[in-house]
Amino acid sequence: MIITDKAQQFIDQEQKYGAHNYHPLSVVLSRGMGCYVWDVDDKRYFDFLSAYSAVNQGHCHPKIVGALTMQAETLCLTSRAFYNDSLGPYEEFMHQYFGYDKLLPMNTGAEAVETALKLARKWGYLKKGIPANEAIIVACESNFHGRTISIVSLSTDSNARADYGPYTPGIEIIPYNDVSSLEKILEEKGDRIAGFLVEPIQGEAGVFVPDDGYLKATYELCKKHNVLFIADEVQTGIARTGKLLCCDHEDVRPDVVILGKAISGGVLPVSAVLADDDIMLTMKPGQHGSTFGGFPLANRVATAALEVVRDEKLAERAEHLGKIFRDEMKKIDSPYIKEVRGKGLLNAVVIEPHNGKEAWDVCEEMASNGLLAKPTHQHIIRFAPPLIITEEELCEAIDIIKKSIKALE
Ligand SMILES: *Cc1c(COP(=O)(O)O)cnc(C)c1O
Repeated sequence: MIITDKAQQFIDQEQKYGAHNYHPLSVVLSRGMGCYVWDVDDKRYFDFLSAYSAVNQGHCHPKIVGALTMQAETLCLTSRAFYNDSLGPYEEFMHQYFGYDKLLPMNTGAEAVETALKLARKWGYLKKGIPANEAIIVACESNFHGRTISIVSLSTDSNARADYGPYTPGIEIIPYNDVSSLEKILEEKGDRIAGFLVEPIQGEAGVFVPDDGYLKATYELCKKHNVLFIADEVQTGIARTGKLLCCDHEDVRPDVVILGKAISGGVLPVSAVLADDDIMLTMKPGQHGSTFGGFPLANRVATAALEVVRDEKLAERAEHLGKIFRDEMKKIDSPYIKEVRGKGLLNAVVIEPHNGKEAWDVCEEMASNGLLAKPTHQHIIRFAPPLIITEEELCEAIDIIKKSIKALE
């Protein structure tokens, strides 16, 4: 990759004054529109990361930005010490959109996961009758649910976890995509298990798609043992996998749904927890909250962003275009390509290292040719363009991917 002096200045500045908790590709972006972003030298790229699926509606969607600017000039933040005239309408909209009794608004994905864990414990004590301080949350190996202390306590990734102990107790980890291990732990400890936290597809783990029927079978086991089925749809939700929620593929209605990322179309940090009354109303005033959660800007932006998903039929688009993408990737005859997998427009190509080149080199070559994607776990490249991408644009992007892989042979 060629890094211009102009770009290098920004990279150096981050290196010098910012914490070193990320390792970005050497590209410095300055604007975006639709499925494209431009760097500081005005080179255009297809964005095939979409900020980890936060930008499903495309960069700077005019309707979402319009809602943001209009509300920004009117009222930005009230806190929840007072009512405001956008939260109620947003909550009712969310009820109609997702079909849950109640919404609890937060800001980041991690906060929404924390909220769901607290809710599960609260419900476990108040409704299920778990003895005080004995509630268990079951989570899966290789999960990614965020970065707080409790969430890294249930991570199995040593990089995410190491040196952050002591860890939060009351967590049990079972293998992902393994129904019998859930059954086993529910039979052993089901009376103390409050919730089963699961990603319908493990995004950060490298777009790991479980077997058909896994969600349904685990959901039914949870029902049998009176355990909350908590779906972390932060990355898979909001049309990304070809349905509004990824759990819809198996007609599973989770007890608790966690949303984030694309709920705002990448415009603001907005997250949400959805549940019905018997669960959500176990939390009483003063027992949970957030200064920004449910703030007017977020309420208007999220409403607009979800209207875009519905009006532009993004779930159907993701389903249709995802099939084309996987078919075309599978057709590439290259020693670099080991496996292609995914659902809708959440896909991954597993790279087999070759000639001393690996996934990072493929990503650098693609960036040189005008397409941005990032490796995860060394050898997996995630491909997740904004869902508003047209078929023609997708085909152009596929050509860049093919050309880049061929160039390294
Ligand atoms: C990104 C992500 C989170 C965390 O969201 P943040 O907004 O980064 O805190 C949680 N769960 C899943 C599945 C994610 O992909």
